Amino acid sequence: MDLRKRLVVEPGSRVTLSDVDAAFHGSYSSSADAKADLEAQATRLGSLQQKLYGEKKHALLIILQGIDAAGKDGTCWHVMAAMNPQGCTVKSFKQPTEEELLHDFLWRVHPHTPGLGQVAVFNRSHYEDVLVVRVHDLVPAAVWSKRYELINDFEKMLTQKGVTILKFFLYITPEEQLERFRQRLEDPARQWKISESDYKERAFWDQYTAAYEDMLAKCSTPHAPWYVIPANHKWFRNLAVSQIIEKTLDEMNLQLPAPSVDIAHIRRVYHAAVVADPAATDADPSRLKG
Ligand code: AMP
Ligand code: MG
Repeated sequence: MDLRKRLVVEPGSRVTLSDVDAAFHGSYSSSADAKADLEAQATRLGSLQQKLYGEKKHALLIILQGIDAAGKDGTCWHVMAAMNPQGCTVKSFKQPTEEELLHDFLWRVHPHTPGLGQVAVFNRSHYEDVLVVRVHDLVPAAVWSKRYELINDFEKMLTQKGVTILKFFLYITPEEQLERFRQRLEDPARQWKISESDYKERAFWDQYTAAYEDMLAKCSTPHAPWYVIPANHKWFRNLAVSQIIEKTLDEMNLQLPAPSVDIAHIRRVYHAAVVADPAATDADPSRLKG
């Protein structure tokens, strides 16, 4: 099953989140069933990223959004674990600083977009400026409502430089969120992740849902599509996100750059000289017959 087709928000369409099955797990029956595919996918992802890094003609921007405990951190960890850290960056967007608030909402985002050859993951993003900002009236509706178009233009500009943009909305049910909060309370290794604000935000579930549905409807574009990822099962979430990234990279037809030197000549002359005389540190080719 091509999960891209199944999970993409078709540009111009509107998703009603209550119609989405957050526990969907495709043709797999369990995480054990998906394990081999997940591992093979991670290997392919790593080698595709290596080509992207070497070729330096494309960049990939992965945007993660979702309610508290939807799995943004876990997805980031899973995807990045498959890649060479040298070609990746992760940026988490928190509450804006005083200085950031003195600028337009994209000012703090732009410097973190990936250059050619790089993969960047945004854990939250400029979409917070039409989500939390809207839900909590942090700016007037007249301001946030104009941001969808500004975001689409901004993303279009990035794609014109060669940045491919994949946006994943991790969708869990309120029941699953509460269960994850409970696990965080119980597990000393995860207690640091929970706070009062998680419970307070939960009270705004319906307002967030409306804001998410608008974001998906207005900002899923042919150049930067949104995917709704059923995320109640962490293993399926990881599988879906990494499959979509892998297929997208695969279609770029990435090519490692051709060597800029004559490999046959280096092998025949320079390498052979050092093999013949290990002391020949300068590998003087004049001592060989060329
Ligand atoms: P966390 O992801 O749990 O570390 O929390 C980060 C917090 O920063 C969340 O509560 C976000 O809603 C908040 N945040 C991120 N971006 C913005 C923004 N542009 N305006 C207001 N709050 C934001
Ligand atoms: Mg949080």
